[in-house]
Formats: sequence, C-alpha cells, structure tokens
Amino acid sequence: MSIIISNLQSVHQRIEQAAERCGRDPQTIQLVAVSKTVPATRILEAYRAGQIAFAENYLQESVEKITQLNSLQTNIEWHFIGPIQRNKTRNIAQLFSWVHTVERLQIAQRLSEQRPEHLPALNICLQVNTSKETSKSGVNADEVLELAQQIAVLPRLKLRGLMTIPAPETDAIKQQQSFKQLRLLLKDLQNSGLALDTLSMGMSADLEAAIAQGATMVRIGTAIFGDRVTSAG
Ligand SMILES: *Cc1c(COP(=O)(O)O)cnc(C)c1O
Repeated sequence: MSIIISNLQSVHQRIEQAAERCGRDPQTIQLVAVSKTVPATRILEAYRAGQIAFAENYLQESVEKITQLNSLQTNIEWHFIGPIQRNKTRNIAQLFSWVHTVERLQIAQRLSEQRPEHLPALNICLQVNTSKETSKSGVNADEVLELAQQIAVLPRLKLRGLMTIPAPETDAIKQQQSFKQLRLLLKDLQNSGLALDTLSMGMSADLEAAIAQGATMVRIGTAIFGDRVTSAG
C-alpha cells in the first residue's frame, strides 16, 4: 500500500477516535487534504483513494494543478486557504468551491462580483485571529459579527462559518483555547440570526483538540503527504 493511502487511513482513524472521545459523529467532520507544494500526481493518488476535498494556499501554484486535474474529469472540491491578494480574486472565484481565509469586506465583494454565474455560490469562512500576540492574519474577535453581517448579504457568496490558524502549541489543553474561542464566536453569530454551520480548525498537530471543540472541517497536510520540502507555508 502506498504511503499516501496508509497516511489517509491513519488520519481517518485519528478523526474517528477524537470524535468518539467527545461523543461526536465522525461523519460530521470533513477531512480537507492540504496539498500545497504537493505535485498533481500525488493529489491524484489521494483522490483515487477516495479523498475529495483538497486545499491550496498559493494561487499561482494551484491554477496549474487544478487545470491539470480537472482535465482528468475528477470532481475534486477545491478549497482556498491562503492569504488573498486583491488581484487574485477573479481566479479564486472561478476555480474554488470554498474560501477559508476571508478577512476583509472588499475582498468578499470582489469574490461575489467575480463568481461565475454558472457556478453555485462560493462557500466562505471568515478567518479569525485567535492568537493575537503572535498572528497578524485574521479578523479580531470583536469585529467578526459586523463583517459577517456585511458578507452574509453578498449575492454570490454563501457565508458558512469561521476558520482559525492558532499559534503552534504542543500542550493539548492550551491547543484547545483558540478552538474554544472560535466555537463560542460561531455560537454568537448563530444566536444573532446567521445560519452558519462550519468551524474550519485543526491541522496535523492539533486535530484532536479542534475536534474536541467542535471542528467540522480539519485541514491536514503533513500527516497525509509528509513533510513539505520547500519553505513555502
Ligand atoms: C499548511 C496549512 C495547513 C496544513 O498544515 P499541516 O500541519 O501540514 O497539517 C492547514 N491550514 C492552513 C491554512 C495551512 O496553511
């Protein structure tokens, strides 16, 4: 069995065990395979093993891979999880089903305007800065509600929930703090009337902590594809 296939099985096992420990149904947690720096051939291998959702951080790198894999009649669901530059929104709106890293209204407006008519609304998560001291990306917690309300009304977007990338933390209890903050924030938004269902949180090193706090999508790279050789990401 190839290493990617056995890695995928291990990750599914970790998700199931983490879900069991907190009494959650593992089916409510979607595995998103992070394929930045991973060549198309290896993405295809994971896809043929049953993995459908893949996430990319760098537009330039992903355009080529997406074009190549789409030409093979795959039905991969592409997620964008990198920083979004203003001049990249058109390609993102055309190529992806999900964008996890929206942190400004202007970017959301462009994605909505540029989403092609023949495609369903683009699924959006707002990136929240839950580790204020160490991270510069993401909206601050006290600005999330206003931004969510502004984005929820954009016609070609479907606001789904929140995403965070906490500062790396090895202690399991400390890992949960940012995730708990995100869970409570989502609850606030839901209580204010927004119909949201997604918590995108948890990576290779902390997926258990994220699941314990309600993650509905975990974004896993290294544990599936191995260590990234380039410095990117
Ligand atoms: C790279 C990346 C991941 C995956 O991280 P791993 O530790 O390799 O699992 C998840 N989310 C984002 C936003 C990333 O950039």
